[in-house]
This record gives sequence, C-alpha cells and structure tokens, in this order.
Amino acid sequence: MGLPNPPGFPGIVFTDYYRRMHFASISAEIENASSSDVEHALSKAGTGQISDRNILALLSPAALPYLEEMARMAQSITRQRHGNIIQMYAPLYLSNECRSSCTYCGFSYENNIRRRTLSMEEIEKEGSILYDQGIRHVLLLTGEDYKRTPVQFIADAARRLAKSFSSVSIEVYPLKEDDYSMMREAGVDGLAVYQETYDPECYRRVHLRGMKKNLEFRLECPDRAASAGIRKISIGALLGLSDSATEVFFCAQHARYLMKTYWQTQLSVSLPRLRPAEGLTDVPLVKNRSYVQYLCALRIILPDAGIILSTREGESFRDQMAGICITQMSAGSRTEPGGYSGLEATVQFETEDRRSVHEFCSSLRANGLEPVFTDWSPVMK
Ligand code: SF4
Repeated sequence: MGLPNPPGFPGIVFTDYYRRMHFASISAEIENASSSDVEHALSKAGTGQISDRNILALLSPAALPYLEEMARMAQSITRQRHGNIIQMYAPLYLSNECRSSCTYCGFSYENNIRRRTLSMEEIEKEGSILYDQGIRHVLLLTGEDYKRTPVQFIADAARRLAKSFSSVSIEVYPLKEDDYSMMREAGVDGLAVYQETYDPECYRRVHLRGMKKNLEFRLECPDRAASAGIRKISIGALLGLSDSATEVFFCAQHARYLMKTYWQTQLSVSLPRLRPAEGLTDVPLVKNRSYVQYLCALRIILPDAGIILSTREGESFRDQMAGICITQMSAGSRTEPGGYSGLEATVQFETEDRRSVHEFCSSLRANGLEPVFTDWSPVMK
C-alpha cells in the first residue's frame, strides 16, 4: 500500500490525512515489517529523517528483539533534548457528572455512581492541598455535562487557581475556538485531549452516546486550541481499545502534524493503558514489553515532544520509564472530585502508583532525576 503524503506538509490538515488512511491497512503494514526495516529505521534515529515507513517498523513485532537498543537510544535522546528533569503535575477533578457513555469509563452516564460537582470553595480547597504538597501545575478535569459544568464554570475555576499555580491545564469536553480563547484569558495555558482510539470503527463502538460520539470535532480540538493561543497541547490514545501499535502510529502522525503546523506550541503525548473502572473489569492487557516498545519508539520518532506517564502505572514501571523516555509525571493523584479533601465520590479509574508526591520525588532523585514543579516557560517567552 502506498502511504499518502504525511500530515504537516503544506496544505494538508490532519483530518484530511486521517480520512484517507485505513486503520486495518496500517495494522497489516506494521505486522509485515521485517527486521531489516527495523534496522533501517534505527539507523535514522536522531537524524530528523524518520519516515512513515520507519515509524511502522519501529512499532512492529519485528522491533521487539531490538528493544534494548531502542531503550538506549530513547534514553540518550531524552537526556540530550530534555535533560534529567521530570515536570510534575497533579489532576484536579472538578466534577464526575457526564452525559456521555463511553464503554471504558467509570463516569459513563448510565453508571449508578456517586456523582459530585465541586463548588468554587471546594475547588480552592483542593487546590490549596495540592499547593501545600508543592504542586504548581494543575490539570482540571470534568466529564461531558454542559449544564452542570458549563464553559463559564470551568473558566471561573481556572481563573481562581491561576492566581497561585504557575500552570493551569484543562482536560474537559471539546470546545469551540472562542471557548478556548476564553479559557486562555482565564489563565489556562494547557489542553489535554486524548482521541482515545484512532480506529474509526472502534471509536463508534465504544462511544455510545453524547458529544463524544463526534470523532472529528474531537480530533480537531488541538487545532482549535492552538489557534486560540493555548501554548501546551497534550494528545494521546488509550491503549487496549483497538490495535495498540496502530494507535501509536496515528498518534505519532497527529503529533508530527501539530508540531509542524503550530511550532510555537509545546506538544506532549500520552499513551495510557486501559485500567479497571466502574462497570469495566475485563480489561485487555497491553503487555509491558510491547508498552515499553511503544514508549521508546515514540521518543525516537518525536525527540522534542514531552511524554507523559500517569499514576495508572505501577511504582517500579514508572521508576524505570522515568529514567528512559518520560518527561512529565503526576503523583499522589486522586481521580474523583473532592478526593484530596476527603469528599466522597466515585473515582474515574483506580490508580496503581499510590505514593505521595514527596515519596515519588524522593524516588526520582534516588534515580538521578530532578522533579520540577514550576513551569518557567511563560516568563521566558
Ligand atoms: S470518558 Fe469522558 S465523556 Fe466518556 S464517560 Fe468518561 S468522563 Fe464521560
């Protein structure tokens, strides 16, 4: 199969590229890559000349025997481009109300769970607990309930927290460009929006109801946010829904497009693995070895991008990957609204690494890494 011109070439937007691609054909290309394809791809690492075919090879089963070499390359690129620092952040759930139904999420509309939307006072209390732990970058999350958590509510929360936090990001429902502008004026400097799956058939299958069913409106969130001046964008795929290697291929292409098109924007990528949640116990496992391969491949493909690893992963896995290719991590996270203050509500998913911020940072330092809490880039603009 011939691959179309990659996204980011003049006049090609990612949505057009995505419409022309076939998820199953890419899966087959990945499956068929050979060891000589992998060796050729590895010879291009660090040259800035990685092609689409090289990406397919790095994500293929044929690359697994080269995992140690890939990890060494990923580590070397990370230290050269990002130093030995790990940017710290913490999630702050504003609400777990949601009008959408996603088969992989505990907050799905039909789940009979304990729901809560925080008041502004409760949000400030959660913020002050995180601040006292040393956190200076906070990620505000909601479900998709436009009535209970309208745009103005999210902006008000951001405005209050931006008074004390050096960075306020949002991970909320997709917004229009005007709304992203409003968020930026309220002090939001970052957006996390994960496509969850780039497999269109799977996307339809797992998104049963609500706004999240609109695949392209979600896919174009980073374009709208970057156009509105949001300077940090995180994208990602939830591994375990469809073929993981193919998800990583599309996610990497999406990232390459965004980095070329919005070069002033800092781009980060996250590849969370599916975790058990309310109503979801039979979770397909993405094996550790393959997961390490995808993360290392991502670093080789995207030397300058941030790579995020959350508390979904366990302690020893996080400690090891922090030393190889990760640049942003959360710690001491709660995934329910009011979780830091001890309010009762259902969590979005169970975390695996339950160490406190202090414990986690001690572990980073013991491994020769430096946790960084303050984002200095705004004052250096
Ligand atoms: S993933 Fe988001 S939109 Fe889907 S059910 Fe969970 S909170 Fe709602």
